[in-house]
Amino acid sequence: MITKEEYQQAISVRDQAEVTINAYGKQRIEEFGARWAKFLIGGDPFPDTDLRYSASARCHCGAGLAYPRNCGGLHQWDCSAVLKGEATEGAHEKYPFMFYEIKSEEQPSAHGATTRP
Ligand SMILES: [Zn+2]
Repeated sequence: MITKEEYQQAISVRDQAEVTINAYGKQRIEEFGARWAKFLIGGDPFPDTDLRYSASARCHCGAGLAYPRNCGGLHQWDCSAVLKGEATEGAHEKYPFMFYEIKSEEQPSAHGATTRP
């Protein structure tokens, strides 16, 4: 039998966990925002190791689509050549996550397929 004290203790643990989880999420969003600004404003490209590639979707320029591993759920697939600083933005493709479902190289159903160079 669960006592009222045990129940109250569990509620307290849950509430504290939510505070920690929310603070961690906020911290990650801020960290990625700073990194994205370094890319957009500072021209600091992403190395391949920081990118997750699509299994098969490519930009019309031939480079695989990719996104930075630590971005949030409101980000987008971009041309990997742009993310790596090998091409300038403009005519390259981008697909916001909220509008497009593109299979990543790390999904089990990709069966090892990747556009990673
Ligand atoms: Zn491209």
